[in-house]
Amino acid sequence: MKTKQLLNVEKIRKDFPVLSTKINGQNLVYLDNAATAQKPEIVIQSITEFYTKYNANVHRGIHKLSEIATLRFELAHKKVSEFINADFEEIVFTHGTTESLNLLAYSLGTELKTGDEVVLTIMEHHSNLVPWQQMAKKIGFKLKFIGITSDGKLDMAQAKRLITENTKIVSVVHVSNAIGTVTPVKELADLAHKVGAVIIVDAAQSVPHMTINVRELDCDFLVFSGHKMLGPTGIGVLYGKRKLLEKMQPFLYGGNMINEVKLEDSTWANLPWKFEAGTPNIAGAIGLGVAVDYLNSIGMKNIEAYEKELSGYAHEQLGKIKGVTIYGPKDERSCVLSFNVEGIHPHDISTLLNRDGVAIRGGHHCAMPLMKELDVSGTVRASFYFYNTFEEVDKLVESVIKSRKVFGYD
Ligand code: PMP
Repeated sequence: MKTKQLLNVEKIRKDFPVLSTKINGQNLVYLDNAATAQKPEIVIQSITEFYTKYNANVHRGIHKLSEIATLRFELAHKKVSEFINADFEEIVFTHGTTESLNLLAYSLGTELKTGDEVVLTIMEHHSNLVPWQQMAKKIGFKLKFIGITSDGKLDMAQAKRLITENTKIVSVVHVSNAIGTVTPVKELADLAHKVGAVIIVDAAQSVPHMTINVRELDCDFLVFSGHKMLGPTGIGVLYGKRKLLEKMQPFLYGGNMINEVKLEDSTWANLPWKFEAGTPNIAGAIGLGVAVDYLNSIGMKNIEAYEKELSGYAHEQLGKIKGVTIYGPKDERSCVLSFNVEGIHPHDISTLLNRDGVAIRGGHHCAMPLMKELDVSGTVRASFYFYNTFEEVDKLVESVIKSRKVFGYD
């Protein structure tokens, strides 16, 4: 297991204050990273520093504090754009993946007409389903869904049949937060572009864990949340190709996003500010910029390699336990490990694991249609990040074995 040494995880863990917390007298084993990641000290400090040393609104004031706040805020935009190989103008800060997807569903959906089609997958998080559903009702366009194969992969044969001349938008999750499936985004982008459609990628679970290059993926839009990649909550990202963002109508109107306002009409500010109405989450943006610095200092390639080993080990060890069913593809090891233990409800597993200090999640993971397809009410989800250790995986496995015993299984 050579990549076990690739990262100095013991040292890395010291950067995260929460990781030394005790739960029920035991060391916290935090395996709920798909819900939100923990924050390193430097991210926490950057937020405190903003409020204690240079709190001011951005873009407006000429005074010194506003100048510093604006510089740091714009620097955060720059860091995020470089992180995914986009241009500065192509990065819009939102409150998170959910807001980014609502923005797209509203702005792009309004331009569609009856008979047009939007293609999603049955794996979508509710935030990439409900906004489209509601716009479809209002505008009259049609939704189509790509299913999964029996081994939990996206059904690409069906994708090829569903993406047709009527398709205007394809919006897909990159890594499923519910079962860990990785979708072939580049291939889907090619299919979409062949019929003149645009492709949106929900990268909430991929940007924190792998190198993302929007030029290589050739996606038109890509969205993610700061809080799943060591940044604060309440800050997220919408990437869009410049020529598309230029054509789109704003989603929110008000201060900061205008060029000139007359009583009867207005013109819009340049990108990306056209999509950032009102006072932004300045502290959140600065914190996200520092989170990006931190990830870069570890190296996304190292993170990816380490997590592959860790997750592979977890799949292997958990798979050995009697009565355990693991969902998702067997040959893809993303950081999401979704499973069920025969005869025990996911919520009961979560409660029992919590007694041992192991934080995981049980439920539908905001993917109810996928749960229906899998014919389960929910699953247990352990989700990893690069600060997790092989010993923590052992603790998870031990705790699941113990839970089976509590329920009287041998
Ligand atoms: N999409 C995916 C794949 C997710 O995992 C999540 C968060 N669980 C979201 C969208 C929504 O993200 P947020 O709550 O940060 O807006």
